[in-house]
Amino acid sequence: MEDLRVRIAPSPSGNLHVGTARTALFNYLFAKKHGGKFVLRIEDTDAERTSQEYIDNIFDSLKALGLNWDEGPDVGGDYGPYTQSERFDIYPKYVQELLDKGFAYECFCTPEELEAEKEEAAKNKKAYVYSKKCENLTEEEKAKLRAEGRKPAIRFSVEKAQKAFHESPIVHFEDLVKGDLHQDVSLIGDFVIMKSNGSPTYNFAVVIDDMLMKISHIIRGEDHISNTFKQILIYEALGAEVPKFGHLGMILAPDRSKLSKRHGATAVSEFVEKGYLTDALINFVALLGWAPSDGVEIKPVEEIAADFRIGEVSSSNSIFEYDKLNWMNSQYIKMLDIEDLKEKLKPFLKDYDLSSLTDEQYTKMVEITREPLTLLSDITNDVTYFFGKDVEIDPQAQADVLDTEVSQDVLKTFLEQAKDWDWTEENLHEKLEAFRGFYKEKGIKPKVTMWAIRAAVTGRTRGADMVGTLEVIGKDTALYRVQKAIK
Ligand code: GLU
Repeated sequence: MEDLRVRIAPSPSGNLHVGTARTALFNYLFAKKHGGKFVLRIEDTDAERTSQEYIDNIFDSLKALGLNWDEGPDVGGDYGPYTQSERFDIYPKYVQELLDKGFAYECFCTPEELEAEKEEAAKNKKAYVYSKKCENLTEEEKAKLRAEGRKPAIRFSVEKAQKAFHESPIVHFEDLVKGDLHQDVSLIGDFVIMKSNGSPTYNFAVVIDDMLMKISHIIRGEDHISNTFKQILIYEALGAEVPKFGHLGMILAPDRSKLSKRHGATAVSEFVEKGYLTDALINFVALLGWAPSDGVEIKPVEEIAADFRIGEVSSSNSIFEYDKLNWMNSQYIKMLDIEDLKEKLKPFLKDYDLSSLTDEQYTKMVEITREPLTLLSDITNDVTYFFGKDVEIDPQAQADVLDTEVSQDVLKTFLEQAKDWDWTEENLHEKLEAFRGFYKEKGIKPKVTMWAIRAAVTGRTRGADMVGTLEVIGKDTALYRVQKAIK
């Protein structure tokens, strides 16, 4: 569809949340599937909560996830500017249009007056709706209020718009995800579209922007459903075409509460810092409310896009299963090309002197330690023994292994023999095989023999492949450690 245009419109009041990433992804998939355009708009009208740091974080996170936009603040496009704060001169014209058409009016109520109305409603246990006190002010009355120094906000006249475009106050729309949705708009109350300081409110700005940016489909979280009714009335009042809406279920934590910091990471950048791969994260996020037709869950975004059908997105909430994400991440780590993995692990190895290893040694180290990784950050603790001359001995390894008579015997023999060994992979294989055989004949299990060497060289009872480990650590350091472990 040539004219299909979708957008993601984050407010930069925090780092890009994984829920926003899901909304962005579903818009992106929908655009890709139908050959449409994906637009990024930054909704930064709330100056107090906005920061450049968050804007940068949103850009970086979306890019890292591969959700590249066709139009946006940085790449431009035919319908810019794409940053809301740069669009302030656009809105007054449409406010005026609504005032002229009688679908909006000036409201001179002070915050104190409005607060009093709210308190009154609360006292009577009624849901608050604005009293419409200012809807029918005469020009004289307005002039008088202006003379008092009051500056008006602009309110949208819900009832007038409803009566003009709908037979009943129950307004319906067909949601792409949830099907028929309706609301009694007489309960909404005349809402402010422009504050007295001239800044537009979200519901108004979003309509003007989506209208001018020719957005055809609006896919977003279901927390916006109640806004949608207000927005539909504004589109109609402006004589604009109403876009199609699709509302996604929320993402909940495993305990079914709102996903929050106490459950784990929530911002995309936090996931990255914790050692998640963005490819795994985006794949996982796609499965929050959507399922592939062939049941194969691990697949790249392009394949997901080809298979994506917005009508099949679940209308209910999805549970963010960290365990499943962890599993998926481990699968993606296994699939990574070694050179790629070496690069991606570097941030998690910054406390080690990587220059002490040749590229060949670094490659080998990664090859023999990658298997158990769930998060990239797991590498940090898994490779300590590859660095430095001395090694920290785990107390358990000391007591259970190194302190035993068998181990002491194994280590002494090892030291004697290994000092003459050629320290190549092939040779170490052969020599260790023979070494185990020698002890096996004495009734010592090969496992026990290897434990002794491993505990002395790595300080642990478990770890990477022993031959590879010895190779990377090098002969001098390995024998030095064995010597130190001998009493
Ligand atoms: N800036 C709004 C938000 O982040 C956009 C909502 C919408 O998609 O209309 O919630």
